[in-house]
Amino acid sequence: MAIQQIIIVGGGTAGWMAAAALSRLKVGRTLEITLIESEQIGTVGVGEATIPPFVGFNDLLGINEAEMLAEVGGTFKLGIQFENWGKQGDSYIHPFGAYGYAMGGIGFHHVWHRFAASGDNRPIQVFNLETMAAYFGKFARTEDYQKQRDDLPPINYAYHLDAGRYAAYLRKFAEARGVVRVEGKVADTALDAETGFVTSLSLDDGRVLAGDLFVDCSGFRGLLIEQALKTGYEDWTHWLPCNRAVALPCQREDGSPPPPFTRATAHSAGWQWQVPLQHRNGNGHVYCSSYMEDSDALDILLGNIAGKPQADPNFLRFVTGRRKKFWNKNVVALGLSAGFMEPLESTSIHLINTGIDKFLSLLSLDGVTQAQQDTFNRLTGREYARIRDFLILHYNATSRTDSDFWNYVRTMDVPDTLIEKVEIFKANGQIFREEDELFTETSWAAVMMGQGVTMGGHNPMAESLDSAKTREEIDEMEQSIRFLVQHMPGHGEYLSRYCPAQAA
Ligand code: FAD
Repeated sequence: MAIQQIIIVGGGTAGWMAAAALSRLKVGRTLEITLIESEQIGTVGVGEATIPPFVGFNDLLGINEAEMLAEVGGTFKLGIQFENWGKQGDSYIHPFGAYGYAMGGIGFHHVWHRFAASGDNRPIQVFNLETMAAYFGKFARTEDYQKQRDDLPPINYAYHLDAGRYAAYLRKFAEARGVVRVEGKVADTALDAETGFVTSLSLDDGRVLAGDLFVDCSGFRGLLIEQALKTGYEDWTHWLPCNRAVALPCQREDGSPPPPFTRATAHSAGWQWQVPLQHRNGNGHVYCSSYMEDSDALDILLGNIAGKPQADPNFLRFVTGRRKKFWNKNVVALGLSAGFMEPLESTSIHLINTGIDKFLSLLSLDGVTQAQQDTFNRLTGREYARIRDFLILHYNATSRTDSDFWNYVRTMDVPDTLIEKVEIFKANGQIFREEDELFTETSWAAVMMGQGVTMGGHNPMAESLDSAKTREEIDEMEQSIRFLVQHMPGHGEYLSRYCPAQAA
């Protein structure tokens, strides 16, 4: 059946990202796109740290970066600083962008290891622009300096943004391109008796909206994908046991500029995020209810935020895992209705983005086919599994013994795919990326080394590189990063020039 009416259920980050991207399909076609949301139900209201591909998502829509950041009070993010993960007192940055660059076809960390083994005591971080700029609170975009010096390395960044303001920004964008917003609460879903496809939605005021294709962005409840189609959920609590969060934004009081990175500080049964925006800090404590009471989680959070709280604490419950199918019949689930692996590496908004990309690439307005569904489900399933392994690594690669929570995650069974990855790295530093997996060699190396998994050796090919010439090259690499960071403006100064926050 030809697709003429697409209905998106939900107006959180997922719903409005989908609406904004799908609005491009309307050009030259008589396609109706409707988004239903309920102000009474509201959105989850968190989810403010992103990763670099999100910059591309906005760019592809033709969104003006400076204007958008000003409207959402956004800041730049160069990576995540992890505190107390490998052991208490530890600190490392998982940066965007690579450690150095490949030399002689070998990943840079092998070359670094070869020199480190023969007495060069420079930490690998000095060969990463994003880490060094983050440490010094500096920021500039590549186009700001490569015009004068194209030999300097490019910078990789993402954004911190106010989730509510971003959804409102995309709403304006999508409505201007013909997406129709309907305020209302979906009360019932009608299914075709023969195919089981969703045919229409009834609102609690009696209105009925018929559609050909439905995008379920209704959040954790999975209104269509689960409540109507009973798709099923794969529970990953065993590996990712945190199942609660309390969020509490606070004022930025100390007058210091927002740091260009997210902070993830481990506590006794979970961890705390700090997401610096221009007008406030987003804070939250993610924890496991088997090891911590809600009241203790809130006390820990209140004891570790710098400014005056701006709202009441927002307690959230979740079960880590994924929907058994992400595309089932004529329903595609995006956002929290598709699954949730916890926010440690800011991957949820990214999965909305890649879900939309795959959906748009596979979509044919002639109708829904089984091949489309199977491809979408297979690719998305793999993507989730690779991210899952990376998240588990953060908990499992620890020597913390100070609480039952850390004793559990340190000794739990982990997927074979992760065991293999860690074993190979320990043996000779090799990191193989599976297919088009999201996290890079540098990501894996940063977290493993940051949490005490050491490289036992390096790729033997590193020995074949000419010693003097290679040393000269890596010296230059370090110097150009140092030069660049010295000459970059402070992050706060950059924001106030490029995208000063507008009043809400
Ligand atoms: P929601 O925001 O819950 O929106 C659901 C929408 O559906 C709402 O508009 C609601 O009104 C509507 N709805 C529901 N039922 C009905 C109904 N019956 N009728 C009509 N409308 C209905 N992601 C990141 O990438 N980075 C982060 O730093 C990050 N941090 C997070 C921290 C926590 C604690 C949590 C829980 C999540 C975090 N996420 C993060 C995930 C991120 O918040 C979500 O991926 C993102 O907000 C998308 O949510 P959503 O739109 O799927 O759901």
